[in-house]
Amino acid sequence: MSSMNAAAEIVRALRALQEPPAVLTDERMDAHCSFKTGGPADLYIEVTGSGQLREVLRILRDSEIPAFILGRGTNILVGDLGYRGAVVTMAGDLAEVTVSGNRIRAGAGASLASVAAAAAGAGLAGMEFAAGIPGSVGGGIVMNAGAYGGELCQVVETVSLLFPDGEIREMKGEEMEFGYRTSLLKRVQAVVTEAVFVLREGDPEEIRAGIRELAQKRRDKQPLEYPSAGSTFKRPEGAYAGKLIEDAGLKGLSIGDAQVSEKHCGFLINRGSAASAEIRALIEEVQRRVLENSGVELEREVIYLGEF
Ligand SMILES: Cc1cc2nc3c(=O)[nH]c(=O)nc-3n(C[C@H](O)[C@H](O)[C@H](O)COP(=O)(O)OP(=O)(O)OC[C@H]3O[C@@H](n4cnc5c(N)ncnc54)[C@H](O)[C@@H]3O)c2cc1C
Repeated sequence: MSSMNAAAEIVRALRALQEPPAVLTDERMDAHCSFKTGGPADLYIEVTGSGQLREVLRILRDSEIPAFILGRGTNILVGDLGYRGAVVTMAGDLAEVTVSGNRIRAGAGASLASVAAAAAGAGLAGMEFAAGIPGSVGGGIVMNAGAYGGELCQVVETVSLLFPDGEIREMKGEEMEFGYRTSLLKRVQAVVTEAVFVLREGDPEEIRAGIRELAQKRRDKQPLEYPSAGSTFKRPEGAYAGKLIEDAGLKGLSIGDAQVSEKHCGFLINRGSAASAEIRALIEEVQRRVLENSGVELEREVIYLGEF
């Protein structure tokens, strides 16, 4: 943001709203993303309803302040110098989960784990794959998150999107252009406010056992004891990123405290006090050496935000 005065003015405008959101200034992003790195965002705004979200985004747009919608921060790498703009995150009504029949309506800020838990509690099957994905419903829809053969696109019935003109439209799953780790939202600027999932009736005990089994698989295979953003790269056609990285001899490769996990080479981890710049340098080094070794260009899944 260009000046301290500009930030103060926006904060005043936000606080003057009929339903003022919670606003923090110079909020360190390492507290809000799973790599546990990243400098301050000029503004950090928590919204709790779709009307409030619309007003907040209108004020930011009118003031030409860039806005970044944050879910659980499990697929982003925020630069060490932070973000000159406003990070907007969702809570309250925008994080509610309600079950009715075999449908679950969830706010974009709800965690995928809480949707999977609600499904299990109601004896609804089909969401087990998402229980161990640490993201939010909104971030999950944007990325078409998936694991162990499941993908959100298989269970999404509708998605409510807030467009820049202030209109909220309910889109059908088929209209969302879901693909491998991608959706309409990679092309069109809009904010997910909620989603409806359709599931099938199942046995609660079997569903819970399914979730436990997948959680165990994750613990066995993934370095969950270290901060990371999960798989750093997308799966290349006909190959596995982790295998290509291992074959290139990069297991355990480190730059500062950023490391190619020894447990799962597809994960780049923060062993303690890595800087985002080190993680980014490691990402680029891995891409360069995998290309050299196997001719495959690894495409980054993790999203960069802010200044490095
Ligand atoms: C240990 C670990 C394991 C993981 N395992 C998996 C896995 O098995 N499968 C998988 O697919 N992913 C996995 N991930 C990655 C990550 O959890 C997913 O990509 C998830 O969907 C990201 O959700 P998020 O809420 O954290 O999004 P964020 O990282 O906060 O944001 C990701 C993108 O979505 C946008 N966004 C977020 N919310 C909204 C919204 N409401 N409206 C519009 N845009 C929005 C952001 O602006 C950003 O561009 C893993 C990550 C970790 C750390």
